[in-house]
Amino acid sequence: MIKRRASTPKTRKKSPWNLNAKLRSALRHVWRCSPEYVEAMRASRVERGKYLCSECKDLFGPKEIAVDHIEAVGPIDNLQTYRERLFCGPDGYQVLCKPCHKLKTAQERAEAKAGLDCAGI
Ligand SMILES: [Zn+2]
Repeated sequence: MIKRRASTPKTRKKSPWNLNAKLRSALRHVWRCSPEYVEAMRASRVERGKYLCSECKDLFGPKEIAVDHIEAVGPIDNLQTYRERLFCGPDGYQVLCKPCHKLKTAQERAEAKAGLDCAGI
């Protein structure tokens, strides 16, 4: 039996079962193993262990970059369309450093939320 150390309090509650979240996670895992993903990484590689960010044009290590969907994948509303948006082909990807990717994702989420807010009027 594994004992929990007394000094490490349990801080996170386990999330309730969410089928769409599990499916999204599984599909994204498959996508990260796909030839499309590997090809996007290879295309941005400048030299061994150095990748070019498409936004800031700086060089980063392999753990400091992310393969980005130029068109946001969005929520998992329908499995077939989500799959098509996720596996959008080699022209649909760009490699960004993590700060640039975080910024782009935040902008896309804000735009999507604003679109939803406008649709509700
Ligand atoms: Zn960047």
